[in-house]
Amino acid sequence: MRVLMIAPPGAGKGTQGALIAAHFGIAHIATGELLRDHVARRSSLGLAVQEYLDRGELVPDQVVLDMVREAMVAAKAAGGGYVLDGIPRNMQQARAAYLIASELGMTADVALHLDADDAEVTRRLLARAALEHRSDDTAEVIAQRLALYYEVTAPIIAWYRERGILVSVDAMRSAQEVGREILVALEAMRPFLEHVPVDERLPLDLTSLGEAFGATGPAASTSE
Ligand code: ADP
Repeated sequence: MRVLMIAPPGAGKGTQGALIAAHFGIAHIATGELLRDHVARRSSLGLAVQEYLDRGELVPDQVVLDMVREAMVAAKAAGGGYVLDGIPRNMQQARAAYLIASELGMTADVALHLDADDAEVTRRLLARAALEHRSDDTAEVIAQRLALYYEVTAPIIAWYRERGILVSVDAMRSAQEVGREILVALEAMRPFLEHVPVDERLPLDLTSLGEAFGATGPAASTSE
């Protein structure tokens, strides 16, 4: 299973990425985590990117792409599956990630879009700020990250829709409900992924299926 995730900050990429990785036994490649780890270790890369993270800006593409290439090579050696969390974040990264993946013979089967509105993700991120003290979970930096998401990240969703690999999920519910819907959708696709080439697939929109998965309206999920 090879999945990439597109979602605004606070929609649950981290939580759902970990769930998908554990369920399918695949690598969870989370660019924000990798970058924060460098910052915490005060590596030269960490020192170079810290200001971008603190301000909620994107670090230079090449830095992230080099990290991701290395992680993808490791994922290939470990069996070939992955869930990408935090990349791509703009069209250049989407193209570059596709080229890296095709070079390695492991392009994504599914682009998973977690759909959640600004009020809900802002509420979750502020709740997380009280617990985790991430330097970018302040009201001002959250607003900046959201603006950047709509400006440069959200437009790439259309590209995956055209490629026929988009799966959209309503992420306004609890982490558990969203997770269940994602795993059901990915499990249902599994036999198909093994037999239908990527360029012959059609997009799948599950955002209106909330009811079927026990939706009760926006529910608490404080983890990203
Ligand atoms: P969130 O999606 O909640 O903002 P992440 O942990 O994915 O959290 O990212 C945190 C920060 O790390 C981003 O604001 C950005 O500075 C940096 N970052 C992560 N992924 C990328 C990427 N693909 N390209 C550029 N910067 C990135």
